Amino acid sequence: MTDHTALRIAGDRLWSTLTETAQFGAIPGTPRGMCRLTLSEADVAVRRWLIDAATAIGMTVTIDKLGTIHARRPGSEPGLAPIAIGSHLDTQPTGGRFDGILGVLAGLEVVRTLHDAGITTRHPIEVINWTNEEGARFAPAMVASGVFAGEFTLDYALAQTDRDGITLAAALDQAGFAGAAEPGAHALAAHFELHIEQGPVLEAEGIEIGVVNGVQGIRWYDVVVKGQTCHAGTTPMALRRDALQAAARLAVAVDHIGRSDPGRSLSTIGLFQAYPGSRNTAPGEVRLTVDLRHPEVAGLDLMEVTLRDRMAEVERETGCTIALNPVWYSPPVRFDPGVIDAIAGATQRLGYTHRTMPSGAGHDSVYTARVAPTGMIFIPCENGISHNIAENVTPAQATQGANVLLQAVLDYDRRTA
Ligand SMILES: [Zn+2]
Repeated sequence: MTDHTALRIAGDRLWSTLTETAQFGAIPGTPRGMCRLTLSEADVAVRRWLIDAATAIGMTVTIDKLGTIHARRPGSEPGLAPIAIGSHLDTQPTGGRFDGILGVLAGLEVVRTLHDAGITTRHPIEVINWTNEEGARFAPAMVASGVFAGEFTLDYALAQTDRDGITLAAALDQAGFAGAAEPGAHALAAHFELHIEQGPVLEAEGIEIGVVNGVQGIRWYDVVVKGQTCHAGTTPMALRRDALQAAARLAVAVDHIGRSDPGRSLSTIGLFQAYPGSRNTAPGEVRLTVDLRHPEVAGLDLMEVTLRDRMAEVERETGCTIALNPVWYSPPVRFDPGVIDAIAGATQRLGYTHRTMPSGAGHDSVYTARVAPTGMIFIPCENGISHNIAENVTPAQATQGANVLLQAVLDYDRRTA
C-alpha cells in the first residue's frame, strides 16, 4: 500500500474557505463576529456553499430528515462503512468563525487534498455538517447527532420550537433542508472531529495539539436551604437559623470540592438567591444551583458524596435543612482507543507538541461515540475565548489541526477492516 505520510493539506486554501464562508452570518462592524443560527438565511447560504464545494470534487450529498448534510467520497472497498469527519456550521448569536466551522471545512479540505493527490481511501470519507449543534435556536444542543445516536427520537427533535414558536420541522421545510434519509440509518466506521479547544489550557502550556480522550461528565443540582426568617435587630445570634449563613458554608465547600482533584474536578455555583430579600431580615431560605464536572464517573460520584457529607455537617452546625435535587446528568464519555491512537500517532509523526486532555464542552462527538469509534483533535484558541465575537485562531494553528486530521484519517483507513 502506498505511503501517504508526507501528504499535507493546503493551509492557505483552508484559511480562504474559513474567510469566504464567514461572509454568511458575519456580524457587521466586528472583525470576526458571527451570527449563523440554525436554518437562518445565513445557515442556508453556507449549507448551499458546502454542497456546491463537495459536489465540485465528485462527492455525493445526502440530506437527512433533520437537515444534516452527509457529503461522501467513495472508497475502494465496497461494503466498508464511511470514516466520518463531522462538526457543525451553525454558531451562537454572538459567536466566532471557528467553533464547529473549522471541523467541517477541515473535513472538506482533507477530501480536496485526497482528490488533488488522486488518492482513494479504502473506506468512503463522509464530511458531516450536523444540524443545530449549538442549541442556540432550538434546544437541546447537538440534537441531530443525538437523534443519529438514538439519544432523542426524530419526532421529539422535529417538534422543538424556537422562541417564535417555529418548529424545527417547519424551519427545515421552509429552508428546503428536510431531507429523506433517516438519521442513524447508516453505520459509521469512525467519527473524527477537529475543534478549537474553547478553553485556555493549550495556549497557556504552549502546546499545539490536544489529543482528546473523552468528554467530562456533568451533574447539575438545585439546592434549597431552609432556616427561619427573623428580625435583624431582636434575634440573638445564638438563636438564629440563618439560611444564608448555611448556604455560604455550603458555597465554600463546593469550591473546595472543585479544587479537590486539580486539573480534573470543576465546581460552580451560578445562581444564588436569598429570600425574602430585605436588609434587616435574616433570610429564611436560599436557592442555589451547583454544577459539578469530572472526566471520570468515579470522580464525579466522589464529588457528590463529599457534597452530601458537607451538607449534613452544615445542617448540624446551623440548624438549617438542605435539599439537594439532581436536575441533569451527562455521563463522562470515553473516546475510542483506536481513534485516539490514530490521532496521537499522526501528531507525533507531524512533530507537533501535544497533550492528552478531556473536552470541557459538549460536542456532536459525545453522541457519535455511542454508535461509532470516535475521537477529537483540539487546537488552541486565542486567550481560550469561544462563544464570543473575539474567538480567534491563527492560520498556522488551523493548518496543524487539519494536517493531524488528514493523517489520522489516513492511518485509521489503513488499519481497520
Ligand atoms: Zn462547537
